[in-house]
Amino acid sequence: MYINPAKCVACTHCVPYCPTSAIQIVSEAGRTFAKIDEDKCVECWICYRVARCPKDAFEPTPPEKMPFVRRLKFFFASATAVWPETGMAGRGTEEMKTNDVTGRFKFGEIGFALDMGRPTGVGVRVSDVEKMCKAIAPYVVFEMENPVTKLLIDPKTGEVRSPELRNVYLLSAVVEAKTSKELAPKVLEIVREVSKELNTVISVGLVCRVKPDGEPEAYEVLRQVGIEPRPNMKINIGLGKPFVGWE
Ligand code: SF4
Ligand code: SF4
Repeated sequence: MYINPAKCVACTHCVPYCPTSAIQIVSEAGRTFAKIDEDKCVECWICYRVARCPKDAFEPTPPEKMPFVRRLKFFFASATAVWPETGMAGRGTEEMKTNDVTGRFKFGEIGFALDMGRPTGVGVRVSDVEKMCKAIAPYVVFEMENPVTKLLIDPKTGEVRSPELRNVYLLSAVVEAKTSKELAPKVLEIVREVSKELNTVISVGLVCRVKPDGEPEAYEVLRQVGIEPRPNMKINIGLGKPFVGWE
């Protein structure tokens, strides 16, 4: 995002709208105007779409004309824009929400949706995303229809495909992966340990099927690591067209 200094009158109206505090009022060459810190800017376009600058000073670059790093930020900040490099829209899959159609998670499997950098405004560096991916990689299978997985040089190692990506600051990122019920407690312990080293926040979502007795399979996993499950979750009630090969 760019603010045209020739148009800006430094009214400060837009400043509180930016979730990452990237807009600063600066004085340069005898003029005072709003300027965007490129590192902190996550290309969410909230300033442009919502703040409604009285001088129309915001000049966003269309995604197709952005350099790769800025385009990366843009697609990680958008829930709907389709990333041309991957053909994917948004931050990842619907995870468990469409499981009755996709059959992504089967009995005996536990899915992980590691939401890094939210609540909005905290943000996450790709280096922190990579730290988490590398730590859990030996024990999980990453979801291929997810933009984080597309950043990895090899989903078996969790390493990002280019060192220049590590310093990129994103609005948020969701690491999607799954493993067996037996390995899930180990993965949870790793997530807990790695989270202590991160310079961001992480919400851990577990995905599973519900057993015939009505208990979600993830309850067993949570009890093993000393977390008492609470019934606070999204439940797929199964009204979709069944996945071919459904068990
Ligand atoms: S709202 Fe517009 S004129 Fe006011 S500080 Fe922001 S960019 Fe400048
Ligand atoms: S695009 Fe988003 S992060 Fe960048 S300056 Fe505007 S509101 Fe802030």
